[in-house]
Amino acid sequence: MPRRWFDRGRVVGGRAAARVGVRPWPGDTPTMRGMESGSDCLFCRIVAGEIPATVVRETDTTLAFRDINPQAPVHVLVIPKEHHADVVTLAQANPALAGEVLGTAAAVAESEGLRADGFRLIFNTGPYGGQEVFHAHAHVLGGEPLGPMRAR
Ligand code: 5GP
Ligand code: ZN
Repeated sequence: MPRRWFDRGRVVGGRAAARVGVRPWPGDTPTMRGMESGSDCLFCRIVAGEIPATVVRETDTTLAFRDINPQAPVHVLVIPKEHHADVVTLAQANPALAGEVLGTAAAVAESEGLRADGFRLIFNTGPYGGQEVFHAHAHVLGGEPLGPMRAR
């Protein structure tokens, strides 16, 4: 089965998939996901301008755009333009770039008017974290009280 950006299944594989009860895609392995980039990666394709996005801020190294399925009145994704599978690989490979992602997220929070009332900044990571797109990204969420951090 080809892996396409609009395939919406959860992207988990191997033992992690068994733990969370999710069937992996054929051929999907954590190693493969780490290698995914360029034309295989949804967010790399947004950076390349191949897939449209509503961009709210751009720097030489980062891009911020509105989430296609917003979970709050303000829901912006902030990504490094360079491909890294998740925030851990980003921070290990290029800590300065990780800081730039944080700086862009802070600037977005300011420009979206979230500073006074507060907001939430989330990096979903791996299967337990619910990560679906394996290009590191921060979610900037706000615009209303967001409630407890976890639904229980
Ligand atoms: P994750 O679950 O990996 O932390 O978050 C991935 C996010 O990407 C989700 O909130 C999802 O709504 C968003 N997303 C998925 N596909 C697209 C897309 O094509 N465009 C935009 N702007 N956001 C997307
Ligand atoms: Zn990518």
